[in-house]
Amino acid sequence: MLTYSHQNIDQSDIEAVIDALKGEILTGGKKAEEFEQALCEYVDVKYACVLNSATSALHLAYNALDIKNKIVLTTPLTFAATANAALMAGAKVEFIDIKSDGNIDEKKLEQRLKTKSDNVGAICVVDYAGNSVEMDEIYKLCKNHNIPLIDDASHALGACYKGEKVGRKADLNIFSFHPVKPITTFEGGAVLSNNKELIEKIKLLRSHGIVKKRLWDSDMIDLGYNYRLSDVACALGINQLKKLDNNLKKREEIAQFYDKEFEKNPYFSIIKIKDYKKSSRHLYPILLFPEFYCQKEDIFKALLDKGIGVQVHYKPTYKFSFYQKLLGQIKLENADNFYKAELSIPCHQEMTLQDAKFVKDTLFDILEKTKKGYCG
Ligand SMILES: *Cc1c(COP(=O)(O)O)cnc(C)c1O
Repeated sequence: MLTYSHQNIDQSDIEAVIDALKGEILTGGKKAEEFEQALCEYVDVKYACVLNSATSALHLAYNALDIKNKIVLTTPLTFAATANAALMAGAKVEFIDIKSDGNIDEKKLEQRLKTKSDNVGAICVVDYAGNSVEMDEIYKLCKNHNIPLIDDASHALGACYKGEKVGRKADLNIFSFHPVKPITTFEGGAVLSNNKELIEKIKLLRSHGIVKKRLWDSDMIDLGYNYRLSDVACALGINQLKKLDNNLKKREEIAQFYDKEFEKNPYFSIIKIKDYKKSSRHLYPILLFPEFYCQKEDIFKALLDKGIGVQVHYKPTYKFSFYQKLLGQIKLENADNFYKAELSIPCHQEMTLQDAKFVKDTLFDILEKTKKGYCG
């Protein structure tokens, strides 16, 4: 099966993990700092804290910003954890609609803040598919209203915006190292920031809120968690990061092949990456035209039958029954339509251009055969 995304594990990763396993200290050693340093250098930020998942990273990011009983404005077109973690930290969640590229609509965000902004504790954006949000506009909005900004850049390690790496502009920037993401540490995540105080707070909460005093004596000064990332995982992360740019180059090749082949086709549109951005190409989304919405399930199954492991990113978070109980029925037109239209097709460094051609031919073949019919 050609999956929509895939990890890249080679001999050098295996050796890095084995070396770490043979080490004296398996967790709580020096590897976390080493990995944090490497991430800081790669993204060009001052401070980093690695954690056992991006969900943990988001949880502690919200925690550090003190958003209890305040509103977090975020996108519904993301993995559930983006909003879940805000709830876990005691905030209320409010969803802002997206644009046709899947990213939060900065104009709608601006309108929302015009009505009332003093109860907004944070804004959390997501660089959908690895394509940066309009960071300058969003950053300015946040500064004008004095609202902290979180960038859930889980898709976007290695992506760029106006010549800079994604993940250095927001107050807190989140990355995920789950195997489908740009690099992996099995499970894992990180928060990057130029704000020393925030990162120190997150590091404290990562390990039970406990600080060492002397000899056996310690103090617990906050209610924390065990969200540490093991030395073995960090060793893998350090090696993965070295290979990232090369892997991104291969993803870009596949994506550009698709971009070219899919231009002006009669079945679906694609998301053009603006010339001042570079996407990590974590996902390659296609957006079926409305006449195919009703047949999406058949199209999805037909692709799976041919060994093409498509996926849908994402069911808008407010459509989950948990959120419906919490917030009632929500309708955001663009997110609803995006969900009806979107399919993520295979795009990763483990596939060849030949594979991409097979995906293209099979996709066109299936869509040609699919009877068009508007939903009744
Ligand atoms: C994957 C993902 C997460 C969660 O990452 P984990 O490391 O699996 O906890 C959060 N947000 C987004 C946008 C993601 O894609």
